[in-house]
Amino acid sequence: MAVRHVLGLSGGKDSTALAIFMKGKVESIEYVFCDTGSELPETYEYLDKLETFLGQKIARLNSGKPFEHLLEIYSNYLPSAQRRWCTTIMKLQPLEKFFGNDTVYSYIGIRADENREGYVSSKPNVIPVFPFKEAGLGIKDIQQILDKAGVGLPKYYEWRSRSGCYFCFFQQQQEWVGLLEHHPDLFAKAKKMEKILPDGRSYTWVRGRDLSFIEANKDQIILNAQKRLTEKLANKKPKTLFEQFAEKGAEDDGCLVCEL
Ligand code: SF4
Repeated sequence: MAVRHVLGLSGGKDSTALAIFMKGKVESIEYVFCDTGSELPETYEYLDKLETFLGQKIARLNSGKPFEHLLEIYSNYLPSAQRRWCTTIMKLQPLEKFFGNDTVYSYIGIRADENREGYVSSKPNVIPVFPFKEAGLGIKDIQQILDKAGVGLPKYYEWRSRSGCYFCFFQQQQEWVGLLEHHPDLFAKAKKMEKILPDGRSYTWVRGRDLSFIEANKDQIILNAQKRLTEKLANKKPKTLFEQFAEKGAEDDGCLVCEL
């Protein structure tokens, strides 16, 4: 049976830094990205940049079906934190299929300063490896790795805290406003997928409110978010962007599986 080394990329900073960190350390390492087809344009751009740095292709996996088709199969039930069929169908199944039955060392970009495992396959032939944890590398080291390679941060970090689908329900309201401002076409697409039925049942991305509400209240949403941030940072030492993301990642559970 073949022995393979696979590094899953999420399009976020940690797995990208891990790909850079591992370059030249393991022979025949395979880089892989589970592409839902609904990623942000900035994510694709970031992966292209990484590919250039690595000098190696990143395998792009997918479910073979666009999200819109899957949504129809699921009777227009939008995925949510409680019904997260999107991750299973669009990310985990293609990845597990890619692992196959070979012995696979799966390299996972969880940092030494994080308290989570990331996605660990349940297949017995897949062995997780945590190089950052083993080397004791934290957020500042990740920053250095990305800067030194000239890869830096993905551009979506200017308005959104994590990678994933443009319509991801884990987004905070101010991030939806960010989507509206940076990608109005994608915001409009996400809005079209919402449904409010005559009997009052609603299928919306944000619990209890639809995207029209976000659109109509965008200025207030941004003001509220800024106020919360100011209150939080009061009496605290100013943080770098990386430190803010590290803190945020530890606070909310976000799309952890998708941040492979
Ligand atoms: S990024 Fe969000 S919407 Fe996309 S697969 Fe992950 S949980 Fe689902």
